[in-house]
Amino acid sequence: MKLITYSHQGSTHPGVLTAGDTAVYPLPYPSMQALIEAPWEQVRAAARQVSGEPIPLEQVTLLAPIPSPRQDIICLGMNYLDHAAESARYDGDSFRKDSAIPVYFSKRVAEAVPPGGWIESHPGLVEQLDYEVELAVIIGKAASKVPAERVSEYIFGYTIVNDVSARRLQTTHKQWYFGKGLDGFTPMGPCITTADEVAFPPALAISAKVNGELRQSSNTRLLITSIADIIAELSSGITLLPGTIIATGTPAGVGMGFDPPRFLKSGDVIECAIENIGTLRNSVR
Ligand code: MG
Repeated sequence: MKLITYSHQGSTHPGVLTAGDTAVYPLPYPSMQALIEAPWEQVRAAARQVSGEPIPLEQVTLLAPIPSPRQDIICLGMNYLDHAAESARYDGDSFRKDSAIPVYFSKRVAEAVPPGGWIESHPGLVEQLDYEVELAVIIGKAASKVPAERVSEYIFGYTIVNDVSARRLQTTHKQWYFGKGLDGFTPMGPCITTADEVAFPPALAISAKVNGELRQSSNTRLLITSIADIIAELSSGITLLPGTIIATGTPAGVGMGFDPPRFLKSGDVIECAIENIGTLRNSVR
């Protein structure tokens, strides 16, 4: 199933897309978070029982699939070899990473940017605005001390996150929290593809374009630390609650990876795409 959150005639609903992704049926839950927390068999039954005419997508406003995540997004830094290399070339002090030990950090998100929504450029604060297409994993049930071989049972689905970054802030402050967590820095969507429709571990084409020019192009099978290992390690000491979002890192081709760097400017259009999920298109305000 492909699940979206949308508003229609003044109210917001989670819904399931029809085949071809052209229309949506509402599902009987108050929010995507509530849907994720509901028993999976119940959700599937609800999706099978939809009836009547679906609502054409042109008549709804898409929101991010989880518009206001309950907690900050957990992110992986430098989790593709080629991106780790371009980051180290840009700033060896700020982007040093030893061997295969994952870098975890947190991305603040009070309100995710919807498909088609604005990435905020924060004039006067941000000078080096950058994009990062990432596969985001959504946890479906509380995960504590989960062995790697059972991780797939805990995954609800997958979406796309653009881990928008202010490089100057990211590297000036010792921690990345401020430079990654500004308002309007977390585009998410367009949908959640449920885990039953993605072979595990995911091996999906992932790409990003800026103004139509291909900048990033890779495959999610190239993660340095796999989704199984990420969730096994984190859950060894942190209970990951349903609705937790984990952004698994970005491949090479971000703006700071070019020489000279090619940062974003007002009016730029960024298209983040992942096979079997869709395309997340946003513009810089
Ligand atoms: Mg990132």
